[in-house]
Amino acid sequence: MASIFSHAFVAYGVNNTFMEHPYWKRCVFFSVVLSILPDADVIGFLIGVPYESPWGHRGATHSIVFSMMMAAFVTALFFRDYFRFKAKLLAVFTILSLSAISHGVLDAFTNGGLGVAFFWPFDNSRYFFPYHPVQVSPIGISAFFSEYGLKVILSELVFIVLPTTIFILDSTNKCNSNIHAAFWWFSSKKSS
Ligand SMILES: [Zn+2]
Repeated sequence: MASIFSHAFVAYGVNNTFMEHPYWKRCVFFSVVLSILPDADVIGFLIGVPYESPWGHRGATHSIVFSMMMAAFVTALFFRDYFRFKAKLLAVFTILSLSAISHGVLDAFTNGGLGVAFFWPFDNSRYFFPYHPVQVSPIGISAFFSEYGLKVILSELVFIVLPTTIFILDSTNKCNSNIHAAFWWFSSKKSS
């Protein structure tokens, strides 16, 4: 895993691509939750689920399909007030899905453990990207207060926080760029 702080920050960054919409705060909140939730699968270590099994750590819960299922569930449950606005619902679902998928993407850049089962349930293989500069994060907060913890923090600052910050600042500058304008124009047309 990358640390929960990095997962949450990237989810915030995903939301920034689509900033300035009325349900932004709610969307950020649930995006952060969904970006952290996949690591609840570490409970498998305690109850004897093998790491390499589909329900082991970085298995099904880190897949694209599971991410989209979580996003659909949250959209259906917590964004009911937008049910009339199909395009806005789709926007929320897309943001939540990308936030959840970003978890597996970050993990696939780490240098430890098994890879990510991106394509579960169609393929249980575990994948890493060819380049994995991010130090794998320890489980538990106390482990960060060590020499290794410092290495993890530094690698995440350089390879996750810095690029995400640049992305956020860039998307903030361009919040009226063509993509954003077209996206929200489409949403407002569909819902009005
Ligand atoms: Zn993970």
